[in-house]
Amino acid sequence: MSTDRIGGQLWDVVVVGAGPAGATAARVAAEAGCGVLLLERAAVPRYKTCGGGLIGCSQAFLPAGLGVTVRDEIDSVTFGLRGRRERTVGCTTAVRCKMVFRDELDAALTKAAAEAGALVRDRTAVAALEDGAGEVVVRTGEGERIRARAVVGADGSAGRVSRHVGVCCEQVDLALEVEVPVDPRDAAKWRGRMLMEWGPLPGSFGWVFPKGDICTAGVVAARGQGDATRAYMREFLERHGLAHLTPLHDTGHLTKCRRPDSPLARGRTIVAGDAAGLCDPWSREGISFALRSGAWAGVAAAEIARAGHPVDLERARATYSDAVRSTLGVEMLASRKVMNVFTKRPGGVHTALTAFPPVWRRVDAYLGGETTIPALLGTPIARAAFKAVGFFA
Ligand SMILES: Cc1cc2nc3c(=O)[nH]c(=O)nc-3n(C[C@H](O)[C@H](O)[C@H](O)COP(=O)(O)OP(=O)(O)OC[C@H]3O[C@@H](n4cnc5c(N)ncnc54)[C@H](O)[C@@H]3O)c2cc1C
Repeated sequence: MSTDRIGGQLWDVVVVGAGPAGATAARVAAEAGCGVLLLERAAVPRYKTCGGGLIGCSQAFLPAGLGVTVRDEIDSVTFGLRGRRERTVGCTTAVRCKMVFRDELDAALTKAAAEAGALVRDRTAVAALEDGAGEVVVRTGEGERIRARAVVGADGSAGRVSRHVGVCCEQVDLALEVEVPVDPRDAAKWRGRMLMEWGPLPGSFGWVFPKGDICTAGVVAARGQGDATRAYMREFLERHGLAHLTPLHDTGHLTKCRRPDSPLARGRTIVAGDAAGLCDPWSREGISFALRSGAWAGVAAAEIARAGHPVDLERARATYSDAVRSTLGVEMLASRKVMNVFTKRPGGVHTALTAFPPVWRRVDAYLGGETTIPALLGTPIARAAFKAVGFFA
């Protein structure tokens, strides 16, 4: 489609950002019969700093038949406490955590959106949004003005649309990550196994995720302690024999968790995924949050595009906000409780996971998509574990 037609027409839905949230929103809105334009700043496929771990809940929200290569499936998890007390536990759920490369996952999701009828335009950065009468004007970095009845902001944790809507975050963390090629001996050592190691800074941890002849390794800690986080990263990579390898990617990224009362919409614009600050406060898992909020945002955007009356507009926004708050908001609240315990008693959490099989079995069930963190915290075993480390769930 020519640039003239993109700028000249009034789109039903413009989606900003082709990550899991945006590509899903674009697909769902297109499937609902909308004229959809998906704008992405980078060239697709694009690299994204991410472990690429798909828990069961994420897998359940992928479109059927998505052609994405699974690089590994997790059969066991090694937990460590600052390099000590390492213990490996086996996964037993039917669905295992799967490892993918994010450029491949996001390109596949974007292709699915295009196949559903969305027009994808990459290398196009959105610079600003302007609310108009019955429409939103999306201004690109090139000065182009694109008109839409509804906008989905899915432009990640540092997103422009997030700022336009006024999303506020109560937890901001710095994640450092490398993607390193490993030799066949190390690839065999990591195959089917991921490592989670509780770190020296409050609430911090490190991970190694296997992807065949490549491993993704990183650490995350609260923002504002950059030197200490980088020192932890160096020590972590050395400890696990990954420091001498030349990384294919060596990046950092902020993860952000929303304040519960933060807005999810403004006028005809709604936000999803990282742009809405939707992310698990403890594990920093965000793909399942992006896929779910993206799907609901796609439905809501289609309703906003068709809203003929302010009441319909308000209903569409409220339905979306309610779905996010009653599901993802509740999950984030529960995970925050786990994070609070973990920050104060990482050793207690480590012991609970590695020395009490029923605790690990519940967490394994969560990884496999069989339960949620709120449901898990409601179990007697979780309450007993919380009590044992001096907290009450
Ligand atoms: C180090 C690290 C490891 C992680 N590991 C995992 C993991 O293993 N499993 C998991 O579930 N989650 C993980 N997460 C979280 C996960 O990466 C995010 O939650 C997820 O990417 C959110 O998806 P999204 O679609 O909301 O945003 P993104 O994936 O960030 O996509 C946003 C898109 O918007 C585009 N964009 C940005 N600005 C503009 C603009 N102005 N105009 C147009 N386009 C724009 C970007 O280029 C990008 O393509 C990790 C995060 C980090 C930082």
